[in-house]
Amino acid sequence: MAKMIPVKDRAKRVQRAMSERAVKERIQDFNEVPLGYDKEDAIYEAQRCLQCDPPTCMEGCPAEVNIPQFIKKIIEEDFSGAYFEILKTNSLPAVCGRVCPQEKQCYEMCVWNKAGNPIAIGRLARFVADWAREQNVHEEMPEIKKKGKRVAIVGSGPAGLTCAADLAKMGYGVTIFEALQEPGGVLIYGIPEFRLPKAIVGYEVNEIKRLGVKVATNFVIGLTKSVDELTAEFDAIFLANGAGAPRFIGIPGENLNDVYSANEFLTRCNLMKAYRFPEFDTPIKIGKKVAVIGAGNVAMDSARTALRLGAEETHIVYRRTKKEAPARREELVHTEEEGIIFDYLTLPIKILGDEKGNVTSMECIKMRLDEPDKSGRRMPIPIEGTKFNMQVDMVIDAIGTVANPIVARSATGVRTNKRGYFITDEETCATTRKGIFAGGDIIRGAATVISAIGDGKTAAKAIKDYLSSGGSFEKPDN
Ligand code: FAD
Repeated sequence: MAKMIPVKDRAKRVQRAMSERAVKERIQDFNEVPLGYDKEDAIYEAQRCLQCDPPTCMEGCPAEVNIPQFIKKIIEEDFSGAYFEILKTNSLPAVCGRVCPQEKQCYEMCVWNKAGNPIAIGRLARFVADWAREQNVHEEMPEIKKKGKRVAIVGSGPAGLTCAADLAKMGYGVTIFEALQEPGGVLIYGIPEFRLPKAIVGYEVNEIKRLGVKVATNFVIGLTKSVDELTAEFDAIFLANGAGAPRFIGIPGENLNDVYSANEFLTRCNLMKAYRFPEFDTPIKIGKKVAVIGAGNVAMDSARTALRLGAEETHIVYRRTKKEAPARREELVHTEEEGIIFDYLTLPIKILGDEKGNVTSMECIKMRLDEPDKSGRRMPIPIEGTKFNMQVDMVIDAIGTVANPIVARSATGVRTNKRGYFITDEETCATTRKGIFAGGDIIRGAATVISAIGDGKTAAKAIKDYLSSGGSFEKPDN
């Protein structure tokens, strides 16, 4: 069995790199790019942990994972113990280990981060979760005293799944209503296979179902049933329907053929299985030269997907610089490595097409960054006389998403702000109608998996408090 090592030896070690597939090979298919730690890597990395008391890393984890404790179990080679430790508070460990922006969460709070060398907590969580899945290790089903109360959850993304798992462990009967044919939210229909394999999401969803959570798919709240109707059948409701409506940049030519929203493009690839070509013949057209507008994770995913589906040249077009690009650094580096061309300080102003309505090029203008404004953000300003034409035959808008109003419209008394997001209490995720809670992207706008998980946890605790103090739906006041 491995052991803790002296602190002076921990200081000598640097963060263990994670092996990845070679670029030439990985761009040929949709298989996962990072390969994960093996046992030796995981123990080496875990032994670097200082086991701080109090552990600052935990302050950066909305999922409330006891990080030092699970790392200690890795050192002891008790991998199932480490897995159970994470599962106490986070039901999506393999997902988080892959896509959580750790560099802005637990890594940032790790004391080794001051030396630019934080413990690779995410990679360790991924190792533990993958090990448990491969070894068929399952959490013992706890003896749960049923509470006799039922909670409806709208949406099966990370917010809905987390809230469902936490409430099920507390003894509530939980049903998730999901509009699409598969549960998982963006984890399934948005993030591509080469970053987050669907089998891994499916596995963690099934583990949540083992807790007794029911999932009704192809069930659109607002169409199949309203939120108001759910109040007659359930004792509390958690709205976690995400912010899945596409947003366009708003320039002439966006109605041409071959202009996609990233949302539609990735959904077609993921749910209609374009990623399993040639086995599946998906109605998705790929241009020879593709421009993706935006520089967040969604833009990187769209560009890398287009590349894998056969685009000869793919550009990321972004009006600011690499420094401001919101994508995770790891994703940006992978995208660069794969030969995607980055056109920074470039703003698309018009998409041009031929007589058949097909895209032929995109007119752009070069930008410069002004001095920081009051918010500290440098505004991009067009540079006169720098318009140029970019020869492309497909454009993907990846500048963000907005709230879909369908759920809000069917929820009397649940107020939204002017952008259509539910107004909630920060401490409890309670909406303006008693008994109805909301969290994830539908209260924040497009955010992160871990913030959605955090909201799911907050809401589960608040729903428990609400139900155990005898809460019941009140007649809405409007
Ligand atoms: P979602 O994941 O959006 O889930 C909402 C669910 O509700 C969906 O399944 C939807 O179908 C369902 N729904 C909607 N309307 C209804 C209805 N009327 N009735 C029933 N069900 C409904 N974050 C990261 O942290 N790291 C990343 O690397 C990352 N990459 C991303 C890549 C892409 C392509 C995208 C689009 C997002 C990415 N994000 C990433 C953001 C992250 O995925 C989201 O912030 C997160 O999934 C939000 O979780 P959620 O549970 O609030 O909503």
